[in-house]
Amino acid sequence: MEAARVFDSKPNSAEARDIAFHLHSQTNPQRHAEIGPLIMARGEGVHVYDASGKRYLEAMAGLWCTSLGFSETRLKAAAAAAYDKFGFYHSFNHKTPDNTIELAEKLVEISPIPDAQAYFATSGSEATETMVKLAWVYHAVHGKPGKRKIIARDRGFHGSTIVAASMCGLPRMHREFGLPLDGFLHTHCPDAYRGTRPGESEPAFVDRLAADLEALIVDEGPDTIAAFIAEPINAGGGIVVPPKGYFAAIEAVLRRHDILVLGDEVVCGFGRTGNWFGCETVGMKPDMVALAKGITSSYFPMSAVLLGRPIREALSEMNKGGELFGHGFTNSGHPVGAAIALETLKIYHEMDVVPHVRRMGGRLRAGLEQIARDSRIVGQVRGEGLMIGVELVADLATRQAFDPALKVGAMFDALAIENGLIIRAMGDTIGFCPPLVIDEAGIDEALDLFGRTLFSAEAKLAEKRPS
Ligand code: PMP
Repeated sequence: MEAARVFDSKPNSAEARDIAFHLHSQTNPQRHAEIGPLIMARGEGVHVYDASGKRYLEAMAGLWCTSLGFSETRLKAAAAAAYDKFGFYHSFNHKTPDNTIELAEKLVEISPIPDAQAYFATSGSEATETMVKLAWVYHAVHGKPGKRKIIARDRGFHGSTIVAASMCGLPRMHREFGLPLDGFLHTHCPDAYRGTRPGESEPAFVDRLAADLEALIVDEGPDTIAAFIAEPINAGGGIVVPPKGYFAAIEAVLRRHDILVLGDEVVCGFGRTGNWFGCETVGMKPDMVALAKGITSSYFPMSAVLLGRPIREALSEMNKGGELFGHGFTNSGHPVGAAIALETLKIYHEMDVVPHVRRMGGRLRAGLEQIARDSRIVGQVRGEGLMIGVELVADLATRQAFDPALKVGAMFDALAIENGLIIRAMGDTIGFCPPLVIDEAGIDEALDLFGRTLFSAEAKLAEKRPS
């Protein structure tokens, strides 16, 4: 069926050209041809403005990434100074730009993994895939080359390249492409709100998840499994905070079977959850972590892996005959990205990011909980720091979800846009992940816009309910 194409009559408009020439990420192509793009023109602090001049509070920091907001002039100045030296240098064959060394050192200073080294890439997907390759090296050196499989979790997100997408636990990342690849397994998401059985306590839920993980490992063969990957708090899967004791229980199982723990800190890193790293918030003890997004506040595409001494030693052992570490991206450790990352880290330190996030996160959460008390559809407010999800449900007492045909999340998203608020609907969970530099006024504005959007969503749903 041919969609109504409102831009066909204006073939030279930016909207029509976007529809004609630009394939969008994570967008339905047919719907895009119908409604066209929302064209963003500029940003100021925690706000962005569309091409018509309308202002939005960007409560998702773009894609969970612009921690310093949309107009940090210090990052622009850091980039300009780096470009004055050169536009590019690499870190292959023993060479390196000087500020890339400095960035590695600064990351190691705050690393949640003791005695770490930093490896650089350009996207979160490359960082998570790099961890998989390093896990394979580790086991091969330890005489277990058969340990190749990776266990990830339902509702996890780890990127869009083939291995990273295979590790995702979201059907939309697999459906079109015949993924996951063989050898990429999935275990439960630790969502106690949705996952506990009637009468099951949270500790019993955790014990069940650990037992099911162990059963999966034993069933597959422990000598076939290299690593387990998890976000400390799932981001794109709906902001899922694991119950207390979850990582301790899961990691006990993994250690018993000599399976490495890979932390995906692409969203949770750099203060987001009220600690420097999400693993500190949830008591996870990873062997490696992947970083991206907040590392440069996304002013430059950059990512990193922090790896501990056992992994470094395995790499040296693997290549002791003089071979090269056969891995690397052209733009790994790019000097302009490194300069921006160094300035970003400096700002995080100067603003004392951890207590600031705890304060602002506390204010956002308390405000959302207050709004929830007056609502008939907020089932749960959950999160840590400035990463908070609000799950909308049809029935508060039974936690009954809305009929998917109602597309409540998408409706909420559209109403929020009308109100000048950008959030992320993940199913019927509304996500907040604002720039970390947000202040009290920004939080209060987000709460006001959210409250208004929620009440118009409730009114719309009431119209649809049979009376
Ligand atoms: N891991 C997580 C937790 C993410 O949220 C994302 C991206 N949203 C990625 C990995 C992949 O990062 P990128 O899009 O930079 O490849």
